[in-house]
Amino acid sequence: MFWIGIDDTDSTTGGCTTYVMYHLMQELQKNHCKIVGHPRLVRLNPNIPWKTRGNGALSLKVEESKNISIYQIVSRVVENYAHIEDPKTNPGFVISRKKPTYKLYLNAVREILKVDEIESVLKLLDAEYKGYKNRRGLIGATAATAWSPRLDKTYELITYRERKRWGTERFVDDVSVMKMDKKYPTTFDNYDYKNYHNRLVPSSPCPVLYGIRGEKSKELIKAQKMIVSEPVDGWMIFETNQGTDDHLMKKNIEDVKPFESVIMEGKISKNPIVIKGGHVIFTLESNDYIIDCAAYEPTKQFREIVRRLSKGDAVKVYGGVREQPLTINVEKMKVNHLVKVFEKIENPVCPSCRKHMKSIGNRQG
Ligand code: ATP
Repeated sequence: MFWIGIDDTDSTTGGCTTYVMYHLMQELQKNHCKIVGHPRLVRLNPNIPWKTRGNGALSLKVEESKNISIYQIVSRVVENYAHIEDPKTNPGFVISRKKPTYKLYLNAVREILKVDEIESVLKLLDAEYKGYKNRRGLIGATAATAWSPRLDKTYELITYRERKRWGTERFVDDVSVMKMDKKYPTTFDNYDYKNYHNRLVPSSPCPVLYGIRGEKSKELIKAQKMIVSEPVDGWMIFETNQGTDDHLMKKNIEDVKPFESVIMEGKISKNPIVIKGGHVIFTLESNDYIIDCAAYEPTKQFREIVRRLSKGDAVKVYGGVREQPLTINVEKMKVNHLVKVFEKIENPVCPSCRKHMKSIGNRQG
């Protein structure tokens, strides 16, 4: 048995590492190599500045096969499908008989790792690997093989477009997505009803048509049958760590470091303010330490909730840490306690003269 990991093959102008994996699996099967279980789509640290989109890396478990060179197949597929010419794309792949520790995955989802430290691990594991250009893709490729779906996992069914349509506007019918969303409650993040946004469809010019996320792989297949869209060229179900919150760590304000994702409790020490761009900022305080927290414009209605908080309210915030200025980018929040806010209410309006009434004295109406 051995593990294959790949990462950093796409660019903002096209490609997708899941698509490279899709082709790699076809090549391996053509060469009679037995694939074990689902391919894995592993989201790593969401705060790293050099990610293309969702910081996803891919891995696959395969059975030992004689007479074929897995290394040659993987390198051929990666070189064929990776956007190596893009200055920000630095692919890497790993083939290892030994699985790296789960701790390595946790570090990759929570911290910033260096290529050199990953290379030392790969040497200790006696793995075969190749990194292109600055070789950063080796980090994600190795971390993806280290993830174990036994603890907590979800699935994503990803469909791919016909090649001739890449870069053109996608057709995925919103009404069919809403119907599917209602019928299959184990699927999630399908449709944003407040902003009329179809969440299955990516906005980049990649080969993906849509992805349905869910708790049960069999339901994803039924859910897909309900989606009305342009022709689907092929599809695959990935096991993923999406929605597991593995990236979040409980922290005190004084221990927060840039690029981490944290869970923190405290009290609002200044009323929230709205800044240019519609972002809402408030200050959180705990044990005499303070930190700014922000709900950015893309979080839409969530900002409205944040804006209604008041000084003294106790909350638990979940989010990524921005470096400059050190700020928590709040993804979700639990309100632990709300303080009472007293406001002067206007006196009632007189129904005949339409002026505000005045009190004629204590207890006299
Ligand atoms: P997509 O999700 O569309 O596949 P992406 O957002 O995953 O794209 P990549 O192009 O894969 O972005 O770039 C992310 C890069 O960051 C990869 O080179 C990966 O190896 C590296 N990386 C991932 N996690 C870490 C980490 N914890 N520390 C340092 N580098 C990391």
